[in-house]
Amino acid sequence: MKTKKVVLFGPPGSGKGTQAELLKERLGFEHYSTGEVFRDHIARRTQVGQMVEQFVTSGRLVPDELVLEVVSSFVRERSDRSIVFDGFPRTLAQAEGLDRVLALCHTGVDLAVLVDLADDEVVKRLTARRQCRRCGKIYNLTFSPPGQEGICDKCGGELYQRRDDSERVIRDRLEVYHRQTKPLIEYYRNQQKLQEIDGSIGRDRVYQELLRLMANDH
Ligand code: ADP
Ligand code: ZN
Repeated sequence: MKTKKVVLFGPPGSGKGTQAELLKERLGFEHYSTGEVFRDHIARRTQVGQMVEQFVTSGRLVPDELVLEVVSSFVRERSDRSIVFDGFPRTLAQAEGLDRVLALCHTGVDLAVLVDLADDEVVKRLTARRQCRRCGKIYNLTFSPPGQEGICDKCGGELYQRRDDSERVIRDRLEVYHRQTKPLIEYYRNQQKLQEIDGSIGRDRVYQELLRLMANDH
C-alpha cells in the first residue's frame, strides 16, 4: 500500500492527538506531535527545550524556523512511512516548509483534516484534561475519568495537568489559533486537500469519519 502523509489541524483540545494515536495503534502510522516533541525536550532539559520553554508554557507559537528545523530532520528519516502530523503545521510558513521538505523526499501531503470545535467547548475540555506522566495517555475528568483519581488506568503512572491548560493560557492559545492557524484552511482548500470533521461528535465517530476520508482520497 502507498504510504500516506496526513495533517490534522484544528483548535487545541479538538481531539487531534487522540485521533493520531488511533491511527498509530490501528494502522501503524508514525504519530508526530510537535507539542509532544517540545514537551519532551523541555523535560529532558535539552538545548531545544530551553529555547522553546517560554513559548510552550505561555501558549505562544515557537518560531517557525526552529519548528521547521526539528520537523525536517524527522521527516527526512521517515519519508517512506505513513505519518500523521498532529499540531503541525500551525502557520502558513510551516505549511509551505512542510511541502518543501516532503517534495525533496519525492512525496507530499495527501490529506489535511480540520478537526473543528467551538471555543467554549475547547475551554470546557481543556480545563478538565489530565495526562499520564509515564505513558502519555490522556484523560478528561468529565468524559473519560480514570478509575482511580490521579492515577493512570493503563500503567499506574501519575496524572498531571499541563501548565498551558489553565483557562487564561487556553484563551491565549485560542487567539493564536484563530489568527495564525486558521489561514491553513484556505491554503489546503486551494490545494484541494482540505477535509473537515466536527470534533464534537465523539472520539469513535470522528475516527470513523477520518477513515472514510482517507479511503476516498486517491
Ligand atoms: P494543543 O494542540 O493542545 O494546543 P500542542 O501539544 O499541540 O497542544 O502544543 C502545545 C504548545 O507547543 C503550543 O501552544 C506551542 O507553544 C507549541 N507548539 C506545538 N506545535 C507547534 C508548532 N507547529 N508551531 C509552533 N509552536 C508549536
Ligand atoms: Zn499511563
